[in-house]
Amino acid sequence: MTDPKVYLLDGGTLVIDESDVHWHINAGNPVRFPVYSVLVEHRDALILYDTGFDLDHVNAVLPFELPLQTPEQTIPAQLAACGFSPDDVDIVVNSHFHFDHVGGNKHITKAATLVHKEELRHAKVPEPFERLGYSDLSFDHADVTYRPISGDYEIVPGVWLFETPGHTIGHYSLLVELENDRSMLFCGDAAYTRTTLEKEWIAGFHLDPTKSVEAIRRLNYLARTRDADIYPSHELASFQEWKLAPHYYGG
Ligand SMILES: [Zn+2]
Repeated sequence: MTDPKVYLLDGGTLVIDESDVHWHINAGNPVRFPVYSVLVEHRDALILYDTGFDLDHVNAVLPFELPLQTPEQTIPAQLAACGFSPDDVDIVVNSHFHFDHVGGNKHITKAATLVHKEELRHAKVPEPFERLGYSDLSFDHADVTYRPISGDYEIVPGVWLFETPGHTIGHYSLLVELENDRSMLFCGDAAYTRTTLEKEWIAGFHLDPTKSVEAIRRLNYLARTRDADIYPSHELASFQEWKLAPHYYGG
């Protein structure tokens, strides 16, 4: 059996304080971090997990995050580098609806958008401290077709979403099973860094700190029992070790 191809799409970088990367740790130290998306070319569907940030939105609403994104780092350009157009994507699934994970959804109008039903509701009516996180609602365009889900969910054979709430109410991490290579577990913002996973240091941005810790433990458990490598969401040092599109894992 041929494994799916897994492409990591570079979406540029942002800056936050280290105490937001790891809650209460090293306040006053700005950290630049990567934003990336995952394209899974499976025999049954072309699946895009997360779509990065929209540069105009961040410049307008969160300019203090000092966005850097070249034209080559946009979703349409990254898909083109892999030989695809936005219309080729069958399923978009966002780990959660924060602005740095949904910015490219608006380019992909033919796909179904898989979303945890609680995440969709919460994005529309966030708590006061979540408003900046949920500030880019451009994913909610007129042509969008939502497929609301809950619980753990197998999208196509061997491509799984696992519930990892805490950072947000309906957060999903992605597991891609590979037979001829190490399986790949994409944490989303349930784990920004390897330190998150090793020390159970949650991010400063979260809805529920206790659930955030449980999500980290679940990711470590999944990696161990599914024999998967873990890919945290926002750490430059680990990102720089990975193969980026148009290169791919699996296949
Ligand atoms: Zn994020």
